[in-house]
Amino acid sequence: MMAALLLRRDKKSTAAHLKSDLNRTDNSSGVRQLQELLDSVLNPEKPPADTEALDWCKCLIAGEEGFEEFCKTVRSYDNATLCGLVWTANFVAYRCRTCGISPCMSLCAECFNNGDHTGHDFNMFRSQAGGACDCGDSNVMRETGFCRRHRLRTGENVPSVPRDLLLMSEMVLPRFIICIIQYLRDGYTEPDTSAERDLQKVLQQLEPQITFLEELTKMGGAMRTVLTKILTNQQTFKDLSMGQEENVFAKKNYENYLSALKNSGLVSVEEKAQTGAAEPTRGSETGALGLLGAAAPSSSESNKEDQDGQSIGQRKRVKLSSSTKDPSIMDSLKHKCFLEELLFWTIKYEFPQKMVTFLLNMLPDQDYKITFTKTFVQHYAFIMKTLMKSQESDTMSNRIVHISVQLFSNEDLARHVTEECQLLDIMVTVLLYMMESCLIKSELQDEENSRHVVVNCSEALLKNNTYWPLVSDFINILSHQSVAKKFLEDHSLLMLWMSFVSFFQGMNLNKRELSEHVEFESQTYYAAFAAELEACAQPMWGLLTHCKVKETQEYTKTVVRYCLETLQIWFDAIGFVDELAPNQVTFHLPLHRYYAMFLSKAVKCQGLDLESLLPDQEMLMRIMVHPLQIQASLSEIHSNMWVRNGLQIKGQAMTYVQSHFCNSMIDPDIFLLQVCASRLDPDYFISSVFERFKVVDLLTMASVHQNTALDGEQERPMLEGALTFLVILSSLRIHLGMADDEILRAEMVSQLCMNDRTHSSLLDLIPENPNPKSGIVPGSCSFEEMLSAVADFKAPVFELGGSMQQGMYTPKAEVWEKEFDPIMVILRTVYRRDVQSAMDRYSAFLKQSGMHTTGNPWPPYKERTPLHPCYKGLDRLLHCKTLHIVIFTLLYKIWLDHSNMSEHVLCMVLYLIELGLDNQVEEDKGDEVRPSEHCHDSWFPGTNLLSNLHHVINYVRVRVPETAPEVKREREPPASTSAEASNFGQNVREAQVFSLVAERRRKFQEIINRSSTEASQAVRPKSSSTRWVPPGTPPQLVTEILEIHESMLSLLIKLHQKLSAKQNSLSATWLEDMDANPNRHAHGDGITAIERILTKAATRSHQSKRSIQEICGKVFPPVAPKKNSPTAKKTMDKEERRQRARERQQKLLAEFASRQKSFMETAMDVESPDTEAAMDLGASEVKESEVLYDCVICGQSGPSTEDRPTGLVVLLQASSVLGHRCKSDEAKKLPTTDEERIYPADTCGAAHDVRLALMQSFFKDSSCLQSVSIGWDGGVYVQTCGHTLHIDCHKSYMESLRNDQVMQGFSVDKGEFTCPLCRQFANSVLPCRPGRSTEVVSWHMPSNKKTSVLVKEVEDLQEQLGFFPTESNLSKEMELVIKDIKNTTQRKYMDYGKNPGSPDNDFLFMYSVARTNLELELVHRGGNLCSGGASGAAKRSCLNQLFHVLAMHMRLYSIDSAYNPWTRLTQVAPNGNNNLQNVAPRPDVPMLFRDCPSLLIIFVLTMPQPLRKEHFICLVRMLYNLQYTQALAALSAKFSPEERQAWSTSGTLKKCPFNTICLSSSVWSPQSIEYSLQQFCLPYLRLSCLLQHHLYGDNLSGCPEEEEFSGLAGCLGLLDPAPQPSNPMYSASCLDWTVSAFDLMSQWCSEVTGLADTQTLLVQDLQWASPHLLHLPDNYNTIFQYYHKKACTACKKVPKDPALCLVCGTFVCLKGLCCKQHGICECVWHSQHCGAATGIFLLINASVIIIIRGHRFCLWGSVYLDAHGEEDRDLRRGKPLFLCVERYRVLEQQWVSHTFDHINKRWGPHYNGL
Ligand SMILES: [Zn+2]
Ligand SMILES: [Zn+2]
Ligand SMILES: [Zn+2]
Ligand SMILES: [Zn+2]
Ligand SMILES: [Zn+2]
Ligand SMILES: [Zn+2]
Ligand SMILES: [Zn+2]
Ligand SMILES: [Zn+2]
Repeated sequence: MMAALLLRRDKKSTAAHLKSDLNRTDNSSGVRQLQELLDSVLNPEKPPADTEALDWCKCLIAGEEGFEEFCKTVRSYDNATLCGLVWTANFVAYRCRTCGISPCMSLCAECFNNGDHTGHDFNMFRSQAGGACDCGDSNVMRETGFCRRHRLRTGENVPSVPRDLLLMSEMVLPRFIICIIQYLRDGYTEPDTSAERDLQKVLQQLEPQITFLEELTKMGGAMRTVLTKILTNQQTFKDLSMGQEENVFAKKNYENYLSALKNSGLVSVEEKAQTGAAEPTRGSETGALGLLGAAAPSSSESNKEDQDGQSIGQRKRVKLSSSTKDPSIMDSLKHKCFLEELLFWTIKYEFPQKMVTFLLNMLPDQDYKITFTKTFVQHYAFIMKTLMKSQESDTMSNRIVHISVQLFSNEDLARHVTEECQLLDIMVTVLLYMMESCLIKSELQDEENSRHVVVNCSEALLKNNTYWPLVSDFINILSHQSVAKKFLEDHSLLMLWMSFVSFFQGMNLNKRELSEHVEFESQTYYAAFAAELEACAQPMWGLLTHCKVKETQEYTKTVVRYCLETLQIWFDAIGFVDELAPNQVTFHLPLHRYYAMFLSKAVKCQGLDLESLLPDQEMLMRIMVHPLQIQASLSEIHSNMWVRNGLQIKGQAMTYVQSHFCNSMIDPDIFLLQVCASRLDPDYFISSVFERFKVVDLLTMASVHQNTALDGEQERPMLEGALTFLVILSSLRIHLGMADDEILRAEMVSQLCMNDRTHSSLLDLIPENPNPKSGIVPGSCSFEEMLSAVADFKAPVFELGGSMQQGMYTPKAEVWEKEFDPIMVILRTVYRRDVQSAMDRYSAFLKQSGMHTTGNPWPPYKERTPLHPCYKGLDRLLHCKTLHIVIFTLLYKIWLDHSNMSEHVLCMVLYLIELGLDNQVEEDKGDEVRPSEHCHDSWFPGTNLLSNLHHVINYVRVRVPETAPEVKREREPPASTSAEASNFGQNVREAQVFSLVAERRRKFQEIINRSSTEASQAVRPKSSSTRWVPPGTPPQLVTEILEIHESMLSLLIKLHQKLSAKQNSLSATWLEDMDANPNRHAHGDGITAIERILTKAATRSHQSKRSIQEICGKVFPPVAPKKNSPTAKKTMDKEERRQRARERQQKLLAEFASRQKSFMETAMDVESPDTEAAMDLGASEVKESEVLYDCVICGQSGPSTEDRPTGLVVLLQASSVLGHRCKSDEAKKLPTTDEERIYPADTCGAAHDVRLALMQSFFKDSSCLQSVSIGWDGGVYVQTCGHTLHIDCHKSYMESLRNDQVMQGFSVDKGEFTCPLCRQFANSVLPCRPGRSTEVVSWHMPSNKKTSVLVKEVEDLQEQLGFFPTESNLSKEMELVIKDIKNTTQRKYMDYGKNPGSPDNDFLFMYSVARTNLELELVHRGGNLCSGGASGAAKRSCLNQLFHVLAMHMRLYSIDSAYNPWTRLTQVAPNGNNNLQNVAPRPDVPMLFRDCPSLLIIFVLTMPQPLRKEHFICLVRMLYNLQYTQALAALSAKFSPEERQAWSTSGTLKKCPFNTICLSSSVWSPQSIEYSLQQFCLPYLRLSCLLQHHLYGDNLSGCPEEEEFSGLAGCLGLLDPAPQPSNPMYSASCLDWTVSAFDLMSQWCSEVTGLADTQTLLVQDLQWASPHLLHLPDNYNTIFQYYHKKACTACKKVPKDPALCLVCGTFVCLKGLCCKQHGICECVWHSQHCGAATGIFLLINASVIIIIRGHRFCLWGSVYLDAHGEEDRDLRRGKPLFLCVERYRVLEQQWVSHTFDHINKRWGPHYNGL
């Protein structure tokens, strides 16, 4: 009743009335009235689109004042100290690493700009997932970075809110919110229940309501407090959520909610109460260990959500019996307040943007933030489940992270929810749950019986990276120390985590294809690498950052323990005993890597003893196997043994070492192998390596061997791989003692050595460690400091071709000298060619610095930092007999040129020897401890390399095929010459070499079988018989004894001889010489390396020294004859091939260079043929020959004839460059605020348009069209490369282009082509005038005729009827090129007359083409002619030919003699006012208003050709008279009446009739008058002079700028060439009248007297400054901030891709459909209007400039560079950018000189879509 009454009343007054009721002490009636009103207003049964309810709410809340007013009032009580601005994707925000505590910190632009971040490490970024401003939140960022507003802590000064202000809000909003919830409940349908499920529609309808909520949050702290109270109040929720008893709708609505809960697999409050304790626990508490060890994979447990898609491809999905730690995490949910249910629906509706924004906008309220975070955590499992099922998981992921980042970046909050809400348990459980959904049985090792399960990388979850929000949250919370500690302390969590990690252990298994190529290359590997990096490695790095001090030792110990346990379980599960299954490799061993990295940290930072963390030997041996297999496989992959597996396997090998992965993959693997090597028996380790690399068979001293595992061509690369691996293993120190700074330095040096790098690419190539996202540098030295220490900056260079380089860093000379480390380079190269590149650069450095000039240097040897004491054992690797035997054997084989040896092998062998010499093992008890029986040989007496070096091996027993050369050799009794001769007998007895290495592997079994002695006895081959033949070996092998008599030292010396190709290359005394200079060995080739080793050996051991001297003293027989073994030949061939390729390349380059040179010469020859001819004649050597042209297509040379004309290759383009000139020489400033503006009215183009329009309003149109020039805007510019061709040749050339299907950057249909010779872009051919050069002479003949005679002659010539050339090929071509010229520009730039298409228009356009080209040439010459004729801009001119063509065309028109201006120019009319002016409706244009340059061109082009020079001079003189008179008139117009009076008494101004005009009152002197007269006439003189230059080939003589007038006047013969220093007033002395000057001038003046409003036509300024692009600000941010959110003036929207015209400053929507008209997008459209189809645009969001030229466009690059001289296209890095003035100048220059087409490559069509 009441409500109905209220409803009828005006909302505002009702609100006021209710409010006053409620404010009474007894407000019960008010409350009741309000409730009733709301009951009827907020009816969820009404459609939400009905906004009546919303209006009511607004009014009720606001009370009597309006809603807007209310907002303002509430805002004034805002006590928020946080900014909290929420943004969505694509918003531009800032991040400051200097100020940030959390790496996720971000600031809105306003807060950033109002804070002080000078000198900070900040960047701008485009938000991907959305975010919120952290300004004011000291948990996330340092207070120093707060902006002014949020630093002030505004909250403290804000008055408290008056009680009644928000009273209504408190009453109304709960009802409003439950109403929204009810709508959400009602609108929701399960995906499977309804076919037409349209959640979007529901959300759309609710949009106004949610927007209203968002508006409320923006009212500030006061309103947020109210909302928080409502959202979190449990009583209100209880009262409202179920609805009143009698309300049927509310009941049904509530049911809906319950069923939604149920369908989500969640248990509601009520149900939970019912089932109570009887709730079945899914799966037994097996835990991680049970899961891995005992529980066999079973698919028994079914999960109803995952019933579908049981198998993906052929792989069966495996279901685990649930390992979920706490089932309550996954499936229970209780809602106790609005906020919780609201979030529930937000999730159900898959995170609608509006809702997310509302929830986030509330975050500045601390109470809300805490409750919301708890609610979020409570729903966390449900969120991730929903995500997994979502169709739009990408969008949803972004929205989830948008929220979670705000909550979890705050350490206090994260710790709070970890403690109170089990956040860690939830996250780990959910991660497990997620991955469990896509497990398959591991096929690694024992495919049949494996009990290990791994994730299936081809499932969507992994391929689409769906798990990333979860993982990124997890990494985020682990970055907080307190949270990470909780994790590390919770053992059951750790166990759970390890079982999670083991899901990735051995995933994406590769099996080597041996028979056929794989048909389908699976692309799963990237998913696998990404998963290991993100899900395993990143959390690991997070944990490691908290294990850095002694106090955290326990954590490390625990992790290590669980790692080992889990590894053990894994080995058991895959059934690994001792032997790897063949031809398998997985790159994924996260468990190994966890173990390795925690070990490394423990030793490096926590002072733990390595021994205490290591397992027993057996386990170490097992741990070693898989990482080693990866190293061997890498080598196999590079040796092309996996080619059948396709490209993806190479991709894996590359990813494994790539900068983003290497820290988490190859580095831990190498480290782990180093640890194993340092603890295991070195003989065992070395032999395992060679076995894994499958090159054991190769290590025989016999010349022939068999290898069952490898093809012949694979042996050498595999051997090289094995040796390289050993070198890396024993020399790499990344985890073995290098400090963080040293590591950074080494990484940087190796990247820089490969190539010069830009700052950003270097940053990208330096491995990310430890936490990539934090940007934390582990060492004390910052990236920048380190960079400046090792590299020099090369500023961006501008090459003449226009290609732009970026700023680069290049290694300093001392880095090349001392720090270049080839081993580090090999470790870090993704592409093999990079190693070569580093070596080439190194050689170049040595050559340049004179350190090594002959031949190719070898990679330098680098001494290593000492090993951390824990890893000392690693050196034993270098001091073990097995390695020494290998070294000895290889040295021997290289010396004898055995097959498959290479320089690289020798290089690595020498490297190993040197490492051994440098890293001596103390003669410890180690040798005694190790039982001697482990070494089955008597090759060497001990393990020390130094003493083994000089040990002579006399005989070696080998096993060879019967056919081998060794077998036939006669066995002589060994001579007892060597020192060890007495041992001979023993040697023979025990030398049993061939299988020695291979036997090592048996030791593994021995240890495993724990029965070493018997086993080894049993397997040791008998050594008694000389012809022992192993059973079952197909080719008969025989054992032979080789006579050797060499030591390693003697072999080294022999190799020295061999390399230097000299006998006795080392004299007996060379060692003494050596000692003098130890440093000269640092760089050099193999000879140097051997010398260095010998010197080291000698200095370290007397015995070695003696031995060396002895060997050197001996006279050797000639060097062992080179056997021409096929492999040696092969290596030779290869070397030769490479050499030949190099030569070929050089030859090509040379050829190219000479071609270019001759082309340059040709270009010079051809350019401006006429000029040259003329110049020849000037030298008085008259040639009777015709001008000859070379055709660049057929190569013939000949004259251009009527029949077969030749033409110049030209590019025609429309240009508005002239029109954009201004008066001021200063470029206009690009506006960057609303106040600034650009006014286009003062440009040359605009001024000429105005002038013509003004004339046309007074005078006869046809006359107007002859009194001006057009083409300032849209004029046609003609350019040539100077090359000529037969026009018929050109036609067939075009035909061939048309048939050419190859993609070209130009369109042949539009006549476009590239010059066949120089490849310059062109679009037409300008026919050359045929003619004899003698004609030129007649033009030149000096004339003594009187001016009056010449004037008459000119008049007669003009009377002559136009000579029409007979129709010929030439004339046809000429007409064709005229057509091309007309087609070049738009119609509107040709039709200026009142009658479109009239011949007058055509006439004007034609002579204006000549004008445009002359004016542009002037611009290119810098605006004047002071620099003379040799200026570069005059080169390759085609103006002479152009004039000829234009003249031929212009002669089609004749000027009616009655109108001929010549008469009016040279004669006084018979009787004062003769004129036809009275007859015509409009008069002719008075002479004083006519443009003299235009008249000159008209005369020249319309008179019979060729025009004699005397006549040309006559024209120039007569027109100068007019020009001078115009100058006087203009000057007079500027005088004040008094001044005019004063001047009229003297000189020429006497009877000047301008009495009425007064424009200025400046004070004039004779000098300033002369100056201004000269200035007025100069443009005319310049143009005349230039014209003369082109027509007659006269040289332009340079002159100082202040003498330009006299110089030009002299050049034109107006002035006596001799200077007149006494009289600087030349301007008047150039006059030459044939009639009374006074009469003629009076006549001209009389034409204008009496004409009103035309004074402005008199006073024109003819001087224009050079064209400029807009002046840009130094800092790009200034442009970006103003324009990236500026609205387009046309469509009033903020464009997605805003662009800016750099010529005029117009702001356009690039690509925007909004501004498309007639199918043309705004940018293209603007280019047509602003630049006559040339446009230069700055793309605001990319900082890049694009050029539009006609139908094509290209990306020009950026004129803004960062501090390192680099572009930042698309603003990806977001670092501050600064204007590069040089680049901008280059851009402007290309614009002015019209060379965009020539300089920029890579043009593409834009289809009007820009
Ligand atoms: Zn902010
Ligand atoms: Zn702020
Ligand atoms: Zn900062
Ligand atoms: Zn030709
Ligand atoms: Zn050319
Ligand atoms: Zn423009
Ligand atoms: Zn627009
Ligand atoms: Zn637009």
